[in-house]
Amino acid sequence: MTNCLSSLKVPEALALGHDTINIMGAHEVRPSAQNYEVWLAYRLGALSELRQEIDSRIGKGEVFTDEANRQLHDKYFSNARLTAQMVETGERIARELNGVIATISSAGEHASDYGAELDSAAKRLEHDVGADVLREVISGIANATVKMSEQNRELTAQLQKSSAEMDGMRRTLRQVRAEAMTDGLTGLANRKLFDETLRSRLRESTVERTPLCLLLCDIDHFKRFNDTWGHQTGDQIIRFVATTLQRFAPPGGLAARYGGEEFALVMPRMALGPARALAERIRQMIESKTLVRKSTGEDLGRITVSTGIAQARIDETPTSLIERSDACLYVSKRTGRNRVTTEADQAALDAA
Ligand code: GH3
Ligand code: MG
Ligand code: MG
Repeated sequence: MTNCLSSLKVPEALALGHDTINIMGAHEVRPSAQNYEVWLAYRLGALSELRQEIDSRIGKGEVFTDEANRQLHDKYFSNARLTAQMVETGERIARELNGVIATISSAGEHASDYGAELDSAAKRLEHDVGADVLREVISGIANATVKMSEQNRELTAQLQKSSAEMDGMRRTLRQVRAEAMTDGLTGLANRKLFDETLRSRLRESTVERTPLCLLLCDIDHFKRFNDTWGHQTGDQIIRFVATTLQRFAPPGGLAARYGGEEFALVMPRMALGPARALAERIRQMIESKTLVRKSTGEDLGRITVSTGIAQARIDETPTSLIERSDACLYVSKRTGRNRVTTEADQAALDAA
């Protein structure tokens, strides 16, 4: 977004800033830096989902409390936060590594000092020496040995501390990576992880010559639900559908949030028949649940989903498989919603 702003001349950028502040004022949004980021993106229309969500909330007269703004920021700008966290962790690792290198090179210096001490002692002992000199040489070696072993102890402690810190940072990086692959609202895999997983499962299915199905589903008349009950309750429904899909995900499979109210289920080692049966159980489970608004206990009625499933062909690309599943999903929508369509069903429909 800053890129986008830097291409504007100063008067235009200022006008945009005033505009944004005015919009924030009109909706009683506190003018914090974080809120400004959200509302500037809204004013620019840079993120279409953010714009849609805010418009729909405005339409329903929702109040943009600090908490509501924070949630919007988390939902649409969390990638920026994750990137900052990764950069910071990377810098800490680099600093720690520099410390380790310095420690190791100082260990090398201590070892060579100790070596020099032993050399000089050996040289003095090459000749016949009296008891006094012998005592002096031995006490010199003993002192150097004590010093060396103290230094070694310190170095070991320092290296242990560094290694513990590096373990902590490795954990942080792993968490950041997991978070970057997770959808913030539902905890399901996000689109990025879905794309990666589908690509690798497709490759495996080609190598192993096992079937693979892709399910896509979309909540029916969700716009109407949002309009009636508000965006936050809509979010609760999205989480409910996500949890249901997660529960039914087959072994090695992946449930993902594909888009706003659309989900995907990658079903490895599953042919169209069993995949259809599983999708039917998911459809029934969602349809049968009486939903209750968490905040007030009001009865929200029921919701349904439309589903499309396609089985991968040999060497098929992810894009082509997604397109075929989506075409089946579209048939489900067109023929009355709350149903599962596979390509076999589609062919039967076409023949009828
Ligand atoms: P159809 O049965 O044809 O799918 O109708 P629909 O109303 O579900 O379809 P449409 O695509 O017109 O509307 C989807 C709506 O989903 C619009 C958008 O406001 C809402 N939506 C998208 N993402 C979110 C979200 O994260 N939270 C909430 N509450 N709503 C969302
Ligand atoms: Mg949709
Ligand atoms: Mg929909």
